[in-house]
Amino acid sequence: MRIVILGGGFAGIAAKSVYKDAILIDKDDKFLLTPRLVDTIAKGDSALFYRKPDIQAEVLKINFREKKVITNKGEIPYDKLIVALGYKQDLTKIKGAKDHVMKLESFEDALKIREEIRKAKSLIVIGGGDLGIELIGSTIELLGKIKGKEKITLINRGKRILPHMPEEISLTAEKILTELGVELLLDTSVEEIKGKQVITNQGTFSADHIFYAGGIRGPDILNSLGFTTENYKMVVNDDLSSVDYKDVYGAGACASLKYPSNAEVSMQSGVHAINNALTGSEEKFKPKQLADVVEIDNNFLGIFMGIPIRGSVARLLKSFALTRVLYKINRINSS
Ligand SMILES: Cc1cc2nc3c(=O)[nH]c(=O)nc-3n(C[C@H](O)[C@H](O)[C@H](O)COP(=O)(O)OP(=O)(O)OC[C@H]3O[C@@H](n4cnc5c(N)ncnc54)[C@H](O)[C@@H]3O)c2cc1C
Repeated sequence: MRIVILGGGFAGIAAKSVYKDAILIDKDDKFLLTPRLVDTIAKGDSALFYRKPDIQAEVLKINFREKKVITNKGEIPYDKLIVALGYKQDLTKIKGAKDHVMKLESFEDALKIREEIRKAKSLIVIGGGDLGIELIGSTIELLGKIKGKEKITLINRGKRILPHMPEEISLTAEKILTELGVELLLDTSVEEIKGKQVITNQGTFSADHIFYAGGIRGPDILNSLGFTTENYKMVVNDDLSSVDYKDVYGAGACASLKYPSNAEVSMQSGVHAINNALTGSEEKFKPKQLADVVEIDNNFLGIFMGIPIRGSVARLLKSFALTRVLYKINRINSS
């Protein structure tokens, strides 16, 4: 059976590692290890890893009737298709965000942020989820201890940061940030961003740079491929099959999963989609929540299978998760 995987990110490589004969198409031969982007900002480390696609080409369209993917290098027929084309930062929810915030979608964006932050005297981060907190962590690492020097403000809509983690982890993270000199504005909704000003329901705040960590959406191309979409994500059934087309599955951040769009869930969805494609099973996707760890200035904290973790255990689990991804990439490169 000819299975074609579109996109060799977390979901795509996990799918390919299950079925070596699948044809992996990606426009790039570099894999962006997004959890490493904060190290790019803090230390200038690379977050790109060589990953060999079977066909390096840009997907342009899909002809579902004739079962062909149309790319800039020609047409590729399929029997079953896994769509795993990734995401974009969602800058549409707040007026002015598109024009005034720093974008972090690529390695180049991270290098640019590193340069900008070095020159800045103040930074506002909007969004107290994993990305917002880790971005503050890497900024602190880059600038040295901030107290009394540059000003970092975190604006969070909810009453506590890291709301998907147990309350004790949120409170510990808030304590660490406050001790490091970060100003926390909780329960504060951003209404608009105008130039260097952030207008909220609690007043207006300004900074040299503004970073928005308020969520992601599907990539632009998803709306033009012919799928039913929600926020640019293809709508899928519980078994990850497309609601629109037979023999087509969605995986990773470009699919409307009922679960958080993190790397671990994306990888599990890639494996689930290809297993259902191979066997014809309609088994529902229910990911196992493994580790979710954030780093703030060398403090590691998070959850593992629902249990709060801190310190060296958390650090080990974070590095294990990254090693697992690199191991899969190496296997794909050598196959
Ligand atoms: C800054 C940042 C930090 C993050 N940190 C973490 C973290 O610490 N932990 C965590 O769990 N999650 C993290 N995430 C989320 C994580 O990166 C995503 O959940 C994950 O990348 C989704 O995997 P994916 O396979 O769906 O998409 P991706 O990994 O983005 O893969 C999509 C692939 O599709 C390819 N592609 C796209 N369009 C085309 C096209 N038209 N033709 C051909 N190929 C195409 C791309 O080149 C790419 O290789 C972070 C995200 C960001 C933005």
